[in-house]
Formats: sequence, C-alpha cells, structure tokens
Amino acid sequence: MIPRPPPRDGSLGFLYLPPFRVQGYSVAGEATTINIPEMDVCFDMGMAPRSALAAKFCALSHGHMDHVGGLAYWCSQRNFQGMGPGTIVCDARIESDVRGMMDGFQSLERQKTPYELIPLEHEQEIQIKNNIMLRAFHTEHTAPSVGYVIIEKRTKLKEHLVGLPQEKLRDMKQSGEEIVNHLEVPLLAYTGDTLPGAHLLRDDVRKAQVIISECTFFEPDHKERAKIGMHMHVDDLVEWLKLVECEHMVVVHLSRRTHLGQARKQLVQQAGKELASKVHFLMDHRNNRLRYEEQAQAAHKLEESLNN
Ligand SMILES: [Zn+2]
Ligand SMILES: [Zn+2]
Repeated sequence: MIPRPPPRDGSLGFLYLPPFRVQGYSVAGEATTINIPEMDVCFDMGMAPRSALAAKFCALSHGHMDHVGGLAYWCSQRNFQGMGPGTIVCDARIESDVRGMMDGFQSLERQKTPYELIPLEHEQEIQIKNNIMLRAFHTEHTAPSVGYVIIEKRTKLKEHLVGLPQEKLRDMKQSGEEIVNHLEVPLLAYTGDTLPGAHLLRDDVRKAQVIISECTFFEPDHKERAKIGMHMHVDDLVEWLKLVECEHMVVVHLSRRTHLGQARKQLVQQAGKELASKVHFLMDHRNNRLRYEEQAQAAHKLEESLNN
C-alpha cells in the first residue's frame, strides 16, 4: 500500500447568472472569496485564487481571517504579475487595521507591495465602472462589518417629454430644466457575515437582481450558535427569502460539516419548491455543473436555430 494523495478540495465554485458570473470559494471559518468578473469586483479575499487576480477591486466585508487571509497575497501577486496595484475597499472602521496588516508584511518582506485603499462610511459609494457604483452599508457581526450593493445609475426621459424633437429637448436642458428622471437599478448585493436585521430589508438589497448571502447554520439545534457567532441560520434565510425580489440568491459560507443535499432538502421543506428554486449554493459543484451544461446546451441550440 502506498499513501493516498491529498483530497482535491479547494476547487472554485461557479455559477452563471446572466449577465454575471459568480465564482470563488466559500466555507465558513476557512475562506471566502467571491469574484464577479463582469463587475471587476471580488468580495472578500479569504484566499487568493489565480482567477481573482484580474479583479480591479477587492471589497472587504469585515476583518475576520477567513475573509482577509489572502488579501496581502492578492496585492502582492497582482504586483508580481504586472497587473498594477490592487484596490481594497473596506469599512472605514477597519481602515487603520488593514493598513497595519499591510505594514506588517512590508516590514517582514523588507519591500513594499503597492495597493490602494478606499475606506467607505455607511451609505458611501464609489464608481467602479461607467454609471455603476459600489455602495457599502453597515451590517451586524462580531467585528465591524459591511455589506455591499452594486448599483447601476440610469437616466430616463421624463414621461411628458417623450416624443418631443431633439432640439427642443436640448434647448430645455440648456436652459437648466431637468428633463430626465434618475433611476437606481440594484444589480447585485453581497451581505458578508451578518445577523439578520433591517439592513437586509433595505430597498437596494431587497430589489437586487442577485443576492449573495451567507447561511452558516442549517441544523435546527444550531440556532443559538448562529446567534452567538452573529451569523444567519436557515430559518432566517427562509423568512428573508419571502421578502426579497431577487431573481437569484447565492448562498455561501456554509460550514464544512453541512451536507449540501440535506441543506437543499431543508430549504425546499421550509420555503417551498418555488422559492427554493431561486437559491443556489456556490459550492454545490455537481448541481452547478449540471446547470451550466444545460445553459450551454440551450445557448448552442439557440445559435443553431439562428444560423438556419
Ligand atoms: Zn466568515
Ligand atoms: Zn466573520
């Protein structure tokens, strides 16, 4: 007998929720890193997989090791690969701690890894793409914590002006009249590690197309543990699921001992089939692969029918 090779864990979860890819790794207490390539944002950096290097921004939900363990390495690898300094976005309350950690590496390494740091207050936002903003909001956890929403800002011509000739509209605009309404379309929300509460019922979270949420505990007798660790329990998730308008909810941060099949069963039992069908587990490799294969097949069929 020869020794067995190590288990092949650590492979990344992947979901295609058009137009977004949600990819990364998330196991409670071990590591959480969730990359949205279309938005150039990676939420948290518990570890730094190669595919997360291309993200321009790393938005931290809080300072627990399973969410920041790969942060310095991410900055260093981006620099090493010639991708320019990474931009860290964080809760203003932990700005000096993040700097302190990066300073620690600088003194250890006797060299400086470049990075940008943007601290955000509650409700503050930054532009991450044309007309697309990243907004932070406070959540409730055992350390200072924030969630994020990605918002598209759109303008729409005021209804009573629709049909007017372009020149007329231009004149009105030049004379200082507001001719458009400003709309906010919440695209994606990431809530980090948090207790349930009013912050999950904000309009920009409730109406986001995709919500990425933690749910650390699924067992009925783990409600107390969820409360102590200030995490979500499946009971909280189900109550919340009834109140949100998202097309998809991606559940992350399950404990390693949670059995995915069991968790899914429980969710269906408590939320009903229809609501539960909105929910995806990021680390459910098997089901997510099947789902992706179906998407690929449907896309292929559509292409063929368009070519004929
Ligand atoms: Zn965590
Ligand atoms: Zn935490």
